[in-house]
Amino acid sequence: MREFDTDMEIALEARSVTAGYGQQAKVIEALCLGIKSGTFTVLAGPNGSGKSTLLKALAGFLPLTEGAVELQGAPVSSFSAKRLAQLVGILPQGPSAPEGLSVEDLVRQGRYPHRGLFSRWTPQDTHACRAALDLTGLADLAERPLDSLSGGQKQRAWIAMVLAQQTPVLLLDEPTTFLDIAHQVEILSLLRRLVKENGRTVVAVLHDINQAAQYADRLVLLKGGRVKAEGDTRSVVTGEAMDAVFGVRSQVITNPVDGTPLMLLESDL
Ligand code: ADP
Ligand code: MG
Repeated sequence: MREFDTDMEIALEARSVTAGYGQQAKVIEALCLGIKSGTFTVLAGPNGSGKSTLLKALAGFLPLTEGAVELQGAPVSSFSAKRLAQLVGILPQGPSAPEGLSVEDLVRQGRYPHRGLFSRWTPQDTHACRAALDLTGLADLAERPLDSLSGGQKQRAWIAMVLAQQTPVLLLDEPTTFLDIAHQVEILSLLRRLVKENGRTVVAVLHDINQAAQYADRLVLLKGGRVKAEGDTRSVVTGEAMDAVFGVRSQVITNPVDGTPLMLLESDL
């Protein structure tokens, strides 16, 4: 069985990937991107620029028209579905669950790649679920039906499910959407801790460039299915890049709180 080597510099790599859906076959086109191991990378870009499509392609969830996605140098398509799910966890955008599921039921689903067909629930499974509930602040809500939760609580339950999967690579599509500012910060801090303390590799789609600058190591800007800029957050967050990718005028100053780049929009008032 292939073990995950955290010393390898590139965890996941898109090699000239073209992918899409039916009529729209080139949502992302000839896209090349290397995701460094042990880093927190943010994917950002306008609506419809292909962020979710790229994330699904990186997770091996989308058939590619051209190119390849490699996980530690081997094509994702060469891994069994179960092995891939032990290595890469993905939180899709706007996930949905069957009715009547409790928070704990959902989080337990995260253990499926670690379990045999008839194997018993192990202490490791229990521990992983409890840790995921604690990390997302949901321990007290474990018994609650998912349908009875607020949007933010639901979002955290989904994140807990992916955490229970205990994968070295985590791909999260808009994990902070629906969360109030305090819970956004909590999730971003958690992701950063998973990277710095546990050596995980995290890729998250976020809309807030300033949050990306504060919490992530690297930033990838997509536009029209192509990478427009990529690098450490400091080098990517510039007024020119924001104009080129989002068509907004802004100035980037140094955040007095922590020295990270801070984008200020120029209003037309
Ligand atoms: P983003 O996440 O950056 O907003 P997406 O990757 O979701 O962008 O979508 C990029 C393009 O692909 C959009 O034009 C969208 O309409 C199209 N698209 C996304 N998902 C599907 C799908 N399941 N079927 C057909 N087209 C899709
Ligand atoms: Mg999306």
